[in-house]
Amino acid sequence: MLLATDLDGTFLGGTTEKRQTLYQLIRNHPDIDLVFVTGRGIETVLPLLHDPLVPTPDYIIADVGATVVDGSTLMPVASIQSGIERQWPGQFVIRKQLAAVRGLSLQEVPQQRRCSFYYDEKTDIAEVEQLASALRCDVLTSAGKYLDILPKAVNKGTTLSKLITHLGIPEDEVLVAGDTYNDYALFETGYRGVAVGDSEPRLLDAVQQWPHVYAATEPGAGGILEAMAHFETFRHYHSDHTEPTIHSADSKQLLMVYHRLPFDIEMEDGHPKRIPPRSPNGIIPSLLGFFSNGRPGIWIGEEALGLLGDHPVLNPPIDSERYPNLRASIIPLPKKDIDLFYRVFSKEAFWPTIFSFINKAKFDHTHWAHYLRINELFANRVADEAEPNALVWIHEYNLWMVPAFLRQRRPDLKIGFFHHTAFPPADIFNIIPWRRDIIGSLLQCDFISFHIPRYVENFVDVVKSHAPVNILRRVNAAKQFLTYSCALGIDKMTKLIEVGDRTIRLGAQPVGVNMQNIQRILDQSDTQSRIELLRKRTNGKHIILSVERLDYVKGPLEKIEAFGEFLDEHPEYHGQIELINICTPPSQGMKVYDRIQHELEQAVGRINGRYSTLEWTPIRFFFRSVPFEEVVSYYAVSDVAWITPLRDGLNLVAKEYIAVQGLQEKPFGALVISEFAGASVELPYAIRTNPYDSKDLKDSLLSALSLDATERSLRIKRMFEIVKHYDVRRWGQDFLEGLEKATQK
Ligand code: UDP
Repeated sequence: MLLATDLDGTFLGGTTEKRQTLYQLIRNHPDIDLVFVTGRGIETVLPLLHDPLVPTPDYIIADVGATVVDGSTLMPVASIQSGIERQWPGQFVIRKQLAAVRGLSLQEVPQQRRCSFYYDEKTDIAEVEQLASALRCDVLTSAGKYLDILPKAVNKGTTLSKLITHLGIPEDEVLVAGDTYNDYALFETGYRGVAVGDSEPRLLDAVQQWPHVYAATEPGAGGILEAMAHFETFRHYHSDHTEPTIHSADSKQLLMVYHRLPFDIEMEDGHPKRIPPRSPNGIIPSLLGFFSNGRPGIWIGEEALGLLGDHPVLNPPIDSERYPNLRASIIPLPKKDIDLFYRVFSKEAFWPTIFSFINKAKFDHTHWAHYLRINELFANRVADEAEPNALVWIHEYNLWMVPAFLRQRRPDLKIGFFHHTAFPPADIFNIIPWRRDIIGSLLQCDFISFHIPRYVENFVDVVKSHAPVNILRRVNAAKQFLTYSCALGIDKMTKLIEVGDRTIRLGAQPVGVNMQNIQRILDQSDTQSRIELLRKRTNGKHIILSVERLDYVKGPLEKIEAFGEFLDEHPEYHGQIELINICTPPSQGMKVYDRIQHELEQAVGRINGRYSTLEWTPIRFFFRSVPFEEVVSYYAVSDVAWITPLRDGLNLVAKEYIAVQGLQEKPFGALVISEFAGASVELPYAIRTNPYDSKDLKDSLLSALSLDATERSLRIKRMFEIVKHYDVRRWGQDFLEGLEKATQK
C-alpha cells in the first residue's frame, strides 16, 4: 500500500502510543510506501528525517503540492517538478500583485513556488482570487487564517495523483490522510482517505458524503490506524501489528551507560581479575555512591574480548556488600573494535571538533558505521535490561547515538545525557557530516547536561540550525557562573526547550572534586612526609605547577614556549622559580599525539639546556602518570598553579588545586586559569589568561608571582567555598534530580 499523509495534526498528531504503533507498523512493513504531503516548506520537513522515531518517507510533497522530492536523496521528481516550476510567476510578482489587499500579511516561513499569507475578516477573498487568477494562480484558504497562492491547479491532490501515476501504483492501494481544509484536494482525488479525529469542521462537511473517505474518531496517527482497520484492503496490516509494550509500573532503577566500567583489573596467580575500583578519586566512586542505599541498578560498559579468558562472567556484581542491587552488564568487544571506536574514530572525528581544532578533524564514513554499530549494541543492552520507567544516564560523546536506538525500543525510559567535554559553537559542530543524526538522537533525551551555560547555549544554537526550537524557560547564569568579560561567560541560560513534540530539559552542571577524599589523602602521614620532602628539595624556590594529559587541546607547547620567553625577559627570576610540568602520556597506540610529544620534549630540552645550572633546573618535566596521592602533594607545595589549556571542557586540576590549598591552614597559592577552560567561569577569583596570546600568558604568571600573601590567601579562601559547595556529590545528585524532573516520562 501507499500511505500519503499530511504531517501536522495527522501523521505527527495523536497520542505518543498511537504514533509509536503506527511508525513501528510502517517500519515493520517495507511494502508500505510512505509519502509525506504537507503544507510545510521542505526546510522544515528535513529535521523529521533525522528523528529516529519517525519512519523515512519514500517521497515528500511539500509546499502544499508545489514541491515533490525523493525522500532519501531529496532530489526533485523532475518530470513533475519541472511542470510546476514553469507555471510559477515568482514570489515577488505575487507580493507586488497583492500588496494593496487589506488584512493580508506575508507568512515569514521557508517556502518555495508558493506564497503563504495570513488573512483576516477584512480580506476580500474574491478580490485575491481575481488578482491571483490574472497571474494564473490559485488561492487556497484553511483554518480561517491561512491563505496560499499556488500555481494554477497545483495542490496536494494533483501532485499526489501525478506521483502515483509516475510510480505506477494501482489506485486502490492508496490511502490518504489529513485533518484540515488544506488537505481537501487529497480526498478529491478519489483515493480512499481518512479525515482523522478532530479534523477541521469545514473539511468534514466537505467530505461527509463521500463513501471513499472515512471520518475517524481518534486524532492523528490513531485515526490512520483506525482507517487501516476500517478499509478491508488495508486491514491485514493493522491486524499484523503488535502493540508496543509501554510499561507502567513505577521504578527507580538506574542504568549507567558509560564506556568505563567500575572495575580495576588486578593480577591473581598470573591471571587478570576484576576488582572493585581501588582509587576513591574521580567520578566513578561518586556515581557508585548512588547505589549504596540499595538502589537497583545496572552499569553497562564494554570490555576487551579475551581480557579475562574465554568465558568471563558478563553480569557480575560490582561490590555486593556496598552496592547490593547493582551489577555490571558487560559488552565484550574485540580489542581492535574498541581501538577503532575510541582511539581512532572518536579521537580523529569528534575530539578535534568538540574542541574547535577543526583542521585536525578527519571524517571516515566506514568508521561512522562502526560507531553506529557499537552505539546500537549499548542501546540494545539497555533496552533488554531496563525495568519499566527506569532512569538511564548516558555518558559522553562516544555514545551520542544511543538515545536514537534506545527510544525506538523503549519509549517508557527517562533518558539523560551528560557531556564530560566541551560543546562547540554551532558553526563548528555543524562541520560533523553526521550532525543531523546526532542531534536527532540527542533530542530523544529527556535531560541533556553540560559543564557550563556556554555549552548549553552552543547546543541550543546547534538545535536551532536544525529545526524550529521553542524556548520554554531561561534562567540567569549569575547564581553560579561568571557572565560578562570572560571568554566562556554568558548571562542567561536555556533550561527547557520544545522541539517538535518533545520537551527537553537542559542543565549546566560542572563536575566537582571529591573533597572528602582529598582531605583523607592530606591527613595521611605518608602525604605529610612527602610534602615535607618536596619543600626541602625545592629549597625555597617558587614552584609553578602544571598538570595535564598530553594533548594539543591543553596547549602544552604554547605554555612551555611562554615560560622560556618569561625567563628571557625576567632574569631576576632565574634560580628563583621552577616549573613542575606533570604531563600524562596518552594511551598506547594514539599516534595523533606523537608529534606534539616530540615538539614538547625538544622545547623543554632547549630551555633547560639554555638556563640550567648545577643548583637550578627551570623546568622539571615528568612525562608519566603520577598517582593522585602524589599530585595532591604537589598541589600542596606549589605557589602558582598555571593552568593554561587552549580548550578544556572543565579542568578538574584547577579545582583540586583550590581544594588542597583551601584545606591547608595558611593557603598561599595563586591560580592562573585559561579563559577557555570551563572551570574558569566557576572560579571568579582566579587570574584568567588567554593562552592564545603569549604576552598574556607571561603577564598572568608575573601577576600570580607578584600577588601579596594576604590577597592570595583571600582569593583561595573565596574559591574554596565554591569548590567545596559544588563538589562531585552535588554534581551527581543535581544531574539525577534534573533527570527525574524532566517533564516527559
Ligand atoms: N591526574 C593524576 N595523575 C596525573 C595527572 C593527572 O591523577 O599524573 C588527575 C588529576 O588530578 C585530575 C585528572 O587526572 O583529577 C585530570 O582531570 P582534568 O579534568 O584536569 O583533565 P582531563 O584529563 O579530564 O581533560
